[in-house]
Amino acid sequence: METIVIAGGGAGGLELATRLGDTLGYAGLARIVLLDRWPGHFWKPLLHTVAAGRCDARADALSFAAQAAEHDFEFLRGELLCVDRARRTITLSPADGGDGACRVVGYDKLVLALGAVSHFHGVPGAAEHALTLDDVSGAETFRRRLIAACVHAAEHAAPARLLIVGGGATGVELAAALGQGAGAIAELRITVIERGPRLLPQLHPQQSASAARHLRALGVAVLTSTAVAGVSADVVFDDAGHAHRADLTLWTAGVAAPPLCATLGLAVNQLNQLVVDAGLCSVSDAGIYAFGDCASHVCPVQGAAPPRAQVAHQQAMFLADLLAGRRQGATPPGFRYHDHGTLVSLGAQAS
Ligand SMILES: Cc1cc2nc3c(=O)[nH]c(=O)nc-3n(C[C@H](O)[C@H](O)[C@H](O)COP(=O)(O)OP(=O)(O)OC[C@H]3O[C@@H](n4cnc5c(N)ncnc54)[C@H](O)[C@@H]3O)c2cc1C
Repeated sequence: METIVIAGGGAGGLELATRLGDTLGYAGLARIVLLDRWPGHFWKPLLHTVAAGRCDARADALSFAAQAAEHDFEFLRGELLCVDRARRTITLSPADGGDGACRVVGYDKLVLALGAVSHFHGVPGAAEHALTLDDVSGAETFRRRLIAACVHAAEHAAPARLLIVGGGATGVELAAALGQGAGAIAELRITVIERGPRLLPQLHPQQSASAARHLRALGVAVLTSTAVAGVSADVVFDDAGHAHRADLTLWTAGVAAPPLCATLGLAVNQLNQLVVDAGLCSVSDAGIYAFGDCASHVCPVQGAAPPRAQVAHQQAMFLADLLAGRRQGATPPGFRYHDHGTLVSLGAQAS
């Protein structure tokens, strides 16, 4: 029986494993294996609510093991360490995360859905000093550090200063969520720094202006056309030479595929994303597929698919059909992205 291994149980990988389990797994036509480093799936677009303390990610995560039992696939918890393309095996970290032996799992088809990590664009000090919202543990670390900064500020009768680098959806949503709750422990001064001329560059300029107005009404300082040139433990420097003091700096200014993607001997772009063809298959290996944030799919008509949950979801549906043999024909149509719009949550008080 064919074994299809899906590495990464995020927005795309979990959906693909579920759909293939329901079809090929249920019918006994293939063994479907999902692996992830975490025991449960948390919907990444809600990470800012964890960071803002409005959601308990551990309670709201979906258990991979439970989903696997219900949908006829296997779940293996562990970190994907490497791929032996000649032998068609992957190596996973020890089962208990401890000192045990690494596990080797064979595959006929491997699907990489490893997501993305923050991209610091080579800004000195950013990787060392800025926090990120790449996953649940990052969001929880941010929350803990924010509370500690607020407690320290209250004890010293001074405001706590949070600087958010990046005025995209994540930075704006978090600033709005924190701006609404600011003052609960101590005065919290929030600044959003955006390199471009406006917040939310993917939206209509009127919506950008309205988001900036809303944030300013909440007391959030918005600095546009301001590029960050360096980050230290308590100061962010912009390229005009200004120093912005910060007790906490959060980086939300872009993503790249995990460094692991560049170590597999497969073609990648400058963001470490695996280069795939119209059928989401690696251009370097016919047995390996990649999709979602870790893949670069460039449609000749639409251009590059953006790193968004919508894309990962649509690509999961496409691959589920392709791998289950439901896309027939000498040249089955390639993947096409349908943009269903963007939702940016500014909270209940937004107008
Ligand atoms: C804070 C935030 C807000 C966002 N808001 C939106 C939004 O409003 N709308 C939208 O469309 N998109 C949004 N996005 C983007 C969206 O979350 C991603 O595009 C989407 O999750 C990509 O899905 P994916 O399956 O490619 O990767 P992910 O969902 O990131 O999943 C990757 C999975 O791979 C696992 N993994 C990675 N490396 C390994 C390894 N070596 N071994 C084992 N497991 C591994 C991870 O644990 C993870 O479960 C947001 C992202 C963030 C961070």
